[in-house]
Amino acid sequence: MNTATPLIEVRQVSRSFPVGRTLLGKPRNTVRALDGIDLELRRGETLGLVGESGCGKSTLARLLVALDQPSSGDVVFEGHCLNRLSRRKLRKERKRIQMIFQDPLASLNPRMTVRASIAEPLGNFLPQAGVDADDLVDELALQVGLSLHHLDRFPHELSGGQCQRVGIARAIVSSPDVIVADEPVSALDVSIQAQILNLLFDIKDRMGLSMIFVSHDLSVVSHVSDRVAVMYLGRIVEVGPSRELFESPQHPYTKMLLEALPHPRPEARTRRPEVKGELPSPLNPPAGCHFRTRCPKAVSECASVIPALKQTASIEHSAACHLVPARLEGSNSD
Ligand code: SF4
Repeated sequence: MNTATPLIEVRQVSRSFPVGRTLLGKPRNTVRALDGIDLELRRGETLGLVGESGCGKSTLARLLVALDQPSSGDVVFEGHCLNRLSRRKLRKERKRIQMIFQDPLASLNPRMTVRASIAEPLGNFLPQAGVDADDLVDELALQVGLSLHHLDRFPHELSGGQCQRVGIARAIVSSPDVIVADEPVSALDVSIQAQILNLLFDIKDRMGLSMIFVSHDLSVVSHVSDRVAVMYLGRIVEVGPSRELFESPQHPYTKMLLEALPHPRPEARTRRPEVKGELPSPLNPPAGCHFRTRCPKAVSECASVIPALKQTASIEHSAACHLVPARLEGSNSD
């Protein structure tokens, strides 16, 4: 696995949405769902994207698969800026970046059989490829753990786990390079979450895919990711190798998330979670560091200066906090 080559680069991406309308039809307010995001996905890796509900994870996921456009900044896939491509060229690139959605039932067309749903992307991407769609769909159905008799059924006749297997088959039918999995198991029964995760990562390994795995569940992310990016109110606040980030978190928010994880032996926990409180409204986020209203370490500078992501003691590990000491030039702690 070559984890050094960026396959996707997100460069200073922001995304705003209008909220409400005045009598003249102008937006009453604006929500900045993403605010100057820089991130990269390397070839062959799984990048975990974590944060509380409303932090912008799903908005970023939709931009990565070109289902939405950034308000500013660029999403670059192998040198092609997705948000600047013509429709024809974008269609060509899209088959290489596919998405698995959080709600498997809602993501399928209720009027299409499973066979038609799995085959549908072939019509979008390979109209003249001479692909025998029926054979391919049969093969994919078996690969994702469906039986051939499922192929004539409709989504409402399947369980949630079976619907997500259809979602996975749809995502890989065009032989993509990248899968963006947006909370792929959070809507499923706990009893089948592990089965679907095992299937997903088995397919990733067999096909040599790169993956962005979006989740609010840090324990799942820690198991499946090579690197992890932590989001808070539309910004990346920490990014680094999975093991390093979980063993030595640098940003107070990451520490809070880890402290809040269930402990295998609650009596062995020496500290209670340090920080509580609600996520501020994205309509009116705190100035300076967005996290300052919940941060026990906040200093006066935090109210006025936005902390930039900077390397910590490790060159691969960055955090956006004024109190994180900058890595010294020539440091050999990596
Ligand atoms: Fe806390 Fe300030 Fe660091 Fe933000 S910049 S996480 S408020 S110490």
